[in-house]
Amino acid sequence: MDILTHTLSGVAVGTAVSAFADSGIKSRLSIVLLSGFAAALPDVDAISLWSGFDSTIGAFFNLSDSGRDIYAAKYWYSHHAFFHSVAAAFLFTVLVGLASYLIETRLRRFKTKGISDSLRKNRLLLLGFFLGYMMHLVEDMPTPASTWGGVNLFWPSASYFGGTGHIWWWNNYDIFLIAVGVIFINLTLSLIGKLIRFDLKRLTIGVFILGFSFAFLQIKTRDYDFGYTGHSANYQQHEAKSKQIQRELLGNRIYDLMERFDNSLKIYF
Ligand SMILES: [Zn+2]
Repeated sequence: MDILTHTLSGVAVGTAVSAFADSGIKSRLSIVLLSGFAAALPDVDAISLWSGFDSTIGAFFNLSDSGRDIYAAKYWYSHHAFFHSVAAAFLFTVLVGLASYLIETRLRRFKTKGISDSLRKNRLLLLGFFLGYMMHLVEDMPTPASTWGGVNLFWPSASYFGGTGHIWWWNNYDIFLIAVGVIFINLTLSLIGKLIRFDLKRLTIGVFILGFSFAFLQIKTRDYDFGYTGHSANYQQHEAKSKQIQRELLGNRIYDLMERFDNSLKIYF
């Protein structure tokens, strides 16, 4: 799935988690933003596709394979491997926990009693980060198997999960729009919550679950098999079909708007 939809899905997770924070707007906003960042992070393993990879990182670690080969292979640092696992989600969450403890004690000189106090204080921030990261892994599972056969969810186990080919790598505008919808509604609810009393936590969680279910339904009802293993021979056909499905789903007007937006972006979307 594309990096923009991943990031916004993480932001959507963050809007639900931040509703549980009793603190001010600044810490709520950091939960939302960090959840979005976490949801983009797993694709850091696509760095081997960078044109300068072989002469820099590849040379530094003395890697015998080229970046392109590494990307498609099943090394722990290949795409969809360790960085797309629960273990990585946990490790990065611990690192964020340590970093916020160090920032609080060293830089801001807050009087926190110790690391456990700091972790307890930042628990929603860390929860948002972990769930945002996990959201990315879930979203990659319905993409084609390609050379990996899904994501290496329970690394160091060698099993890969997903790779079902329910959706194409990108052109999932409907999922993007659902994520935007969840973010918009939940942020509006948070703002209104300052004026009218209602159960913000329950409502934002409800909106998120509704959006997630809707996206799940959209993914499950594509009515076309994007699945392939290895390097696809029907790449152009899948690409065209994914766009046709979006046009049928969204209607010409919204589709044309989305396509123009897509073409204005430098990333695959
Ligand atoms: Zn990914």
